[in-house]
Parts: sequence; structure tokens; C-alpha cells
Amino acid sequence: MNTENVRVRFAPSPTGYLHVGGARTALFNYLYAKATGGKFLLRIEDTDRTRFQEDSLKEIFESLRWLGLEWDEGPEKGGDFGPYIQSERLDKYNEHAQMLLDGGHAYKCFCTSERLDQVRKEKEARKEQHGGYDRKCRDLSPVEVQANIDAGMPFVVRLKAPLEGTIAFEDMVRGTIETPVNMVDDTVLLKTDGFPTYHLASVIDDHFMEITHVMRGDEWIASTPRHVLLYKAFGWEAPVFAHLPVILSPTGGKLSKRKGAASVMDYKKGGYLPEALLNFLSLLGWNPGDDRELLNIEEIIEAFTAKKISSKPSVFDEQKLEWMNGQYMENYDPAKLAEEVIPLWKDRGLTVDNVDYAIGVIKLLQVRSKKVTEIAETGDFFFADPIEYNEKQAAKQFTEAVKPALEKLVADFPSISWNKEAIEACIEAVAESLEMKSGKIKPALRLAVTGVGGGPDLIDMFIQLGQDCTVRRIKNASNTIG
Ligand code: GLU
Repeated sequence: MNTENVRVRFAPSPTGYLHVGGARTALFNYLYAKATGGKFLLRIEDTDRTRFQEDSLKEIFESLRWLGLEWDEGPEKGGDFGPYIQSERLDKYNEHAQMLLDGGHAYKCFCTSERLDQVRKEKEARKEQHGGYDRKCRDLSPVEVQANIDAGMPFVVRLKAPLEGTIAFEDMVRGTIETPVNMVDDTVLLKTDGFPTYHLASVIDDHFMEITHVMRGDEWIASTPRHVLLYKAFGWEAPVFAHLPVILSPTGGKLSKRKGAASVMDYKKGGYLPEALLNFLSLLGWNPGDDRELLNIEEIIEAFTAKKISSKPSVFDEQKLEWMNGQYMENYDPAKLAEEVIPLWKDRGLTVDNVDYAIGVIKLLQVRSKKVTEIAETGDFFFADPIEYNEKQAAKQFTEAVKPALEKLVADFPSISWNKEAIEACIEAVAESLEMKSGKIKPALRLAVTGVGGGPDLIDMFIQLGQDCTVRRIKNASNTIG
């Protein structure tokens, strides 16, 4: 196998959204391509028409692009090995199914779905481990086959799996995997509707797209022996296989759509940054060989080798993802965050017409937010004066004793320069003149400008809100006292 020019592919079926498990597979393929100077292909496996979902393609493209996993060849991109959508390659599959029939590696099966159900039930009743097809049509004579065709009976094409021995393949992650042939049934390759099954189509495409390494989730391990048989039947060299370890849900069991495997786009909506999600996914079944956890994509590519892919399951730890996201939030470009946050503020009914002002607000909030959505949820007061105050806090902070201090600040603030030192000095001077501690006044000021309490550093907030706005808000608060 020529592994010099690495070509890997991510081959999703458009049957729904791209969930995080799929994204991890895409990422590892991408990383392997980038780390080896190879090519990362995207191929759409849409031959199961019953499960096809129209919107799915758009969502898969959008999710991959949001994560930054741009493909080198594939739909919307082109390349020399297309088309990259399987439903546009049907002739190739049919032609090759015929080659298998001609070579005696496959046969036509006329069994009805009722009969297959019956066979399955009987096998279950006998508790037979191998529940596959009973091979009734495997030895039909050419005359019988022709008679069935002439009678207009629909048929599928099945693989003629060997009846004895074992099938072995090398897995980059797990080493040699051997399967006794009784675990491999006469798999359907071509369906009655003329569409190939996944097995036939993916083997043909991997061959003709010159895929060197097949990296996919380990739920496909059981299918690989069939693929190995197909490569043999065609006389082709098989690619190198690498089955990525299962991802477990924090509550136990395999991560599934039911058990916490949200879509990539749900994480976007939930306020996660693509860089953080990517970093997190890269550590599901891989590590850089040292104890680094925060790595940007360049660092991951630099450290990525298939040798470090683990065969052990990894756990999808939401809390760790949240922590990681918080780390990325701290130093993230505030202008980029603004593109996400401003629409969220607008959705909350706020008027945000000054982007520079919004960026200033984001700078204050991003260091204390774990998610993009948290910025949006905690920043309302920067855009609208409070119309009411948290009742409990108001009762505690807006006291008769503090009122003169607020009034004095309303009088003094307008004439000072609006910077940290001057504001701080003015508050201290007012406190001193009233023989109060500034620590008694500040919580009231905080409530006056926010309406809810909390928030970033008080003086930073004043500066961001601006002199007029700060004075107005303190005045409004002071008016509610007494
Ligand atoms: N279409 C398969 C899927 O949806 C691809 C499996 C493979 O990579 O071979 O996961």
C-alpha cells in the first residue's frame, strides 16, 4: 500500500444532523491528512433512500465548516475523483456488482422480505448466534435464476462469503483483527431498487478515490471483514483501517443521540466556540504524548500521529468541555465574539447600534463567561437603563444613609475626567466627606448601574457605560430612596 500520498475521507450519510461523534471521526481524518501532508475528502453516502433527509447535507457542510474542517475534495469543492455523492455514481456500483456476479463472488437472491423475516424468527427461536440469511438462493442453477428473472421477480445481489476459515485484517489502532467466517453472512450488495448498500459502495469508492487509510468509528469493525472479502473479490489492495475508540456518555453506555450526543450545531447554539469543541474532540481517543490539554489546531496537527490513537473508550465529559470553552473565551478575539453576541442581544430586544461599544462590553464579560451565550445573558444592562432593581438588594443597598453619597456623586461626577483613577478618587473623597467607608457606597452604585447587582469591576463598568449614563443611573437610583 502506498501510504506516501495519504488520502483519507469522511463519509457521512445524510440521515440527520452531524453529531459530535461524527465530528470526532471527521476531525481525526482531517488531522491525519494535515499531519502527513495528505488530502482530506468528503464523500456523501446517500444510498439509503429511506433514511435520506434533505436538510442534512446543508447541516453537515455547515457543521464541518464551522469547526474549520474544510475538505480538499468533495461536494461544493470538486476534485479529480468525483462525483463525491454516491447517488451520482450508481452506474459504477451496478457495473461492479455485475463483475462480482460474473466472477462467481456474488449471486442473485430472490427471497421476499416475508421469507427473510421468517428465517430470522426461526433462527432466533433456535437461539442461533448467527442470525444471517440462510443462503437459499446461493446455489440456484443458471436456469432457475433466469426463470425467476423472466417471471419478473425482484432480486438483490448478495456476497458469496466463504464458508470456512477466518478473515484477518490489520487495524492501525487495534492490531490484527481476526473474524471467523461464520460471523460474516452473505451480505446484500445491491438492493432491489438498484441502489448499492453501504458495503459495496464504500469499498468501490474507497478504491477509486484512492483512499489510503479508512478511519472510522469502531461500530464499523464488524463490517470490515466483508469489505476485506470484497477487496479480494475485485483483486484490489485494501486500504489501511483504523477504527476509532467508542465515545461513552458520562452516564455510561455509548454516546448516542439519545444519550447526550448533541449535534455540532447545538453546541454552537449553546454558546461553544469551534476552537474549544475541536480541542475537546481531539482528546477523545488521542493525546499529544504529554500533559497538555489546551492545544490549538496547529499544535494538534504538529503532535498528531496515528500511533497515539487509543483503543480504549473515552468519556464525553461535558464539564471538561465547558471548562475548556471558558479558557478559550478569555483570550478570544472580541470582534469575532461580537458577530455571535450582537444578534443574541438583538433577539433579547436590545438596541445594539454601536459595534465598538458592544466590543467594549464583550471585553469586560468574556473573561467571566464560560460560553458565548453567557455574555449575551449577562450584558443586558449595558444597553438599557434599569427600570427596576432587584428588590432584596435594593432594600439592603438603597438606604437613607447612602442617599447623600449618591447625590453627591451625581453632583461631582460630571466635572471629573472619566478615567479609573479620577473616578476612584472622587468616590473616596465623597465617602470621606460624609464620614463613610467607600465599601458601603460601592454596592449601591453597582446596583444603581446594573439593576441586578453582579457584573464586572465597578469602575470598568462606569467607563464602559460612559459619564452621562453612569450619572443618570445613579440619579435614578437615588430618586427611589426615601
Ligand atoms: N456512511 C457511513 C457512516 O455514516 C461511513 C462509514 C465509513 O466511514 O466507512 O458512518
